Amino acid sequence: VKKSNHLIVETTKGEFETKLLINCGGLQSDRIARKCGLNPDVKIIPFRGEYYKLKKEKEHLVKNLIYPVPDPKFPFLGVHFTRMIKGGVEAGPNAVLAFKRNGYGYSDISFGDLAEMFFYPGFIRMIKQHYVMGINEFRRSLNKSLFAKALQKLVPSIENDDILPGGSGVRAQALDRNGKLVDDFRIIETEKQVHVLNAPSPAATASLSIGNYIADIVVKNH
Ligand SMILES: Cc1cc2nc3c(=O)[nH]c(=O)nc-3n(C[C@H](O)[C@H](O)[C@H](O)COP(=O)(O)OP(=O)(O)OC[C@H]3O[C@@H](n4cnc5c(N)ncnc54)[C@H](O)[C@@H]3O)c2cc1C
Repeated sequence: VKKSNHLIVETTKGEFETKLLINCGGLQSDRIARKCGLNPDVKIIPFRGEYYKLKKEKEHLVKNLIYPVPDPKFPFLGVHFTRMIKGGVEAGPNAVLAFKRNGYGYSDISFGDLAEMFFYPGFIRMIKQHYVMGINEFRRSLNKSLFAKALQKLVPSIENDDILPGGSGVRAQALDRNGKLVDDFRIIETEKQVHVLNAPSPAATASLSIGNYIADIVVKNH
């Protein structure tokens, strides 16, 4: 709600008065923007990234981060190996369409979220362009041998039995009306509001720089 020189933000935790609103809502960022009266012109589509982890006895095979050469057609990098700070080696993530915004597994289904996706014009356009890739991602997600095969491109000696199921995360991927997966940051501004609508990887690694960038926008324009 706009007041003369401030905003009232209505939340489930009560009302807050503020001079400026910055929306960094990830998977909900487009909805938050819409609730603030904007037309974000993108829809957030949840893409789950699933991981395996290397068995302890095989961790010696990975001494550093091992990445594939990215395919510029897609915003997702492809499965890779990550040595974790706390120990262990993660292998992944893939990129499967989630059936819910916070869909961390196949049992997480929201018919409301699915309907919202299917009725967005860009969604069908995206499916038409990328359905082969999409089907292959589902196959690799449901078939461990296919996942292992993708990993073998990076470390040929990895075998099916060397990997164990790991965790998952969900990417908040903005999709435009033309069916394009937005592969850059999308930050929109309006009076007293800044909305981060797409912050794809490496937005975690770059989070401090992005924070500075947003702070600069605020200082310059608000
Ligand atoms: C599997 C996977 C692997 C990735 N790997 C990498 C990597 O190696 N390197 C890298 O740099 N990036 C990586 N990323 C991407 C990185 O995680 C994102 O780019 C980054 O988290 C985006 O930051 P954000 O602050 O925009 O959104 P988020 O990190 O999603 O934060 C959004 C926050 O908003 C909160 N929120 C949502 N709705 C509301 C609401 N209504 N009210 C209040 N709070 C709300 C959420 O709880 C959340 O805390 C990966 C992502 C995934 C899923």
